[in-house]
Amino acid sequence: MNDFLLAALREIVGCDGVLTGDAVKARYPGYFMSQIGADALVRPATTEQVSRVLALCNQHGQSVVVQGGMSGWVRATQTQAGDLALSLERLNQIETVDTVNRTVTLQAGVVLQTLQDYLEPYRLTFPLDLGGRGSCHVGGNAATNAGGMRVIRYGMMREQVLGIEAVLANGTVVSSLNRMIKNNTGYDLKQLFIGSEGTLGVITRLVLRLREQPRSNNTALVAANSFDQIVGLLRHMDASLGGMLSAFELIDNRFYNVNTGSGRHAPPLGQDYPYYAIIEALGSDQQRDAELFENALSAAGENSLFADATLASSEKQRADIWAVREDLQHIIRDFQPFYAFDVSLPVGEMADYMSKVKQHLHARWPEGAIAFLGHVGDGNLHIAIGAGGAQDREAVESCVYEPLIPFSGSVSAEHGIGIEKRPYLGISRSQSEIDLMLGLKGLLDPVGILNPGKIFGGFEAHSKQAA
Ligand SMILES: Cc1cc2nc3c(=O)[nH]c(=O)nc-3n(C[C@H](O)[C@H](O)[C@H](O)COP(=O)(O)OP(=O)(O)OC[C@H]3O[C@@H](n4cnc5c(N)ncnc54)[C@H](O)[C@@H]3O)c2cc1C
Repeated sequence: MNDFLLAALREIVGCDGVLTGDAVKARYPGYFMSQIGADALVRPATTEQVSRVLALCNQHGQSVVVQGGMSGWVRATQTQAGDLALSLERLNQIETVDTVNRTVTLQAGVVLQTLQDYLEPYRLTFPLDLGGRGSCHVGGNAATNAGGMRVIRYGMMREQVLGIEAVLANGTVVSSLNRMIKNNTGYDLKQLFIGSEGTLGVITRLVLRLREQPRSNNTALVAANSFDQIVGLLRHMDASLGGMLSAFELIDNRFYNVNTGSGRHAPPLGQDYPYYAIIEALGSDQQRDAELFENALSAAGENSLFADATLASSEKQRADIWAVREDLQHIIRDFQPFYAFDVSLPVGEMADYMSKVKQHLHARWPEGAIAFLGHVGDGNLHIAIGAGGAQDREAVESCVYEPLIPFSGSVSAEHGIGIEKRPYLGISRSQSEIDLMLGLKGLLDPVGILNPGKIFGGFEAHSKQAA
């Protein structure tokens, strides 16, 4: 970046708002280090500063890569030499909690967990919950349309956002800070920015919908002998719990054994079952809901919908069960090189799909490691693969994506496209859909400064026939 631009940026955000050179890389240790090539990082503290930064960059054709909490899985925040990284970390104020309308208005750089903790005394909750909660920003959650553990009950981030303030590439501030659930006055513009991965605008403020804090929590881990049992159990529990089913998380035998191996988490159930599921119900009356939960589970047992089960009877047992699902460090260490995938397809077709992925992988790498887990209640499977070498990414990807095509599944259930999944966009989207997306990109960011090279690029290689 040239000195003129750096000086102009410092004038807008102050000297400590701009980092350059090694100071940029030093902020992102470990895994993310290799993805940071930007010459400079700017940290605006107000919407007005974001607007002035973007207007300046737009005028000079300067690429800008928006960074939230940097917890994304698809390299959507990756920068290269010449890029300017723009971090939302200083826009981190929770502005107002409206307890009557059950909304919160806040800045995009608020960390998800900070919001969740902040709401405790209000007896309200923001229900989006995911493993990256300690670092991801609510703005990043909106930009990726994050999902997580409770989508089955509350929906994805898209369903939680009532209003958005965003800054367009040319610096125009679009304030759409709606606070109502219903508002059909023309196009719902906030939806343009949700899931757009920083390519259409910079989200600076949001109005989020809040829910009543659950007063009961019932959690069980079940073991199943077949995927059919898992599918039957999902339906049974949903039907029996009167809308309280809040999580239904699949863990396969391989993942369970990695995390409950020697010196790791104690196995809550035996280690020989092909599948496990964490079932959680959130409600309003602990005594009544516990009875309902236990009755639903025992009816499931009587109908042979699982092989074994354990109920959490304390907060510690609940946390221990969730740790078996949420802890990713062991699998990342054991499966090397580690490849992670996030696909979706109808639940009824998952067993067939999983066996095809295994066949493809083992045909190429007989010893290749593979584990499945995920938000199965939402049709979302996460796949961990340890096979081949670092150069074999494309071959590993074809083992996952080729079998997905006949099921018309999605190559990205909740993580977005970023750089990692660009070549496969055409598997899940038709050419006419991609053309419309590119048209919107051209309209909102005609110079192409926002997050260039993300989402689009090389998708022709795997395109399906235009619908
Ligand atoms: C342990 C772990 C578990 C996870 N589990 C889940 C899960 O269950 N479900 C799930 O959906 N994700 C999950 N994730 C992925 C990740 O946490 C989410 O994608 C999250 O929403 C990213 O938020 P972020 O603030 O970290 O965004 P970043 O990673 O910083 O950015 C992601 C994208 O959003 C853009 N962006 C960020 N902020 C803004 C903004 N204010 N305006 C415009 N664009 C912006 C960036 O340019 C980039 O394209 C997990 C991650 C980890 C580390």
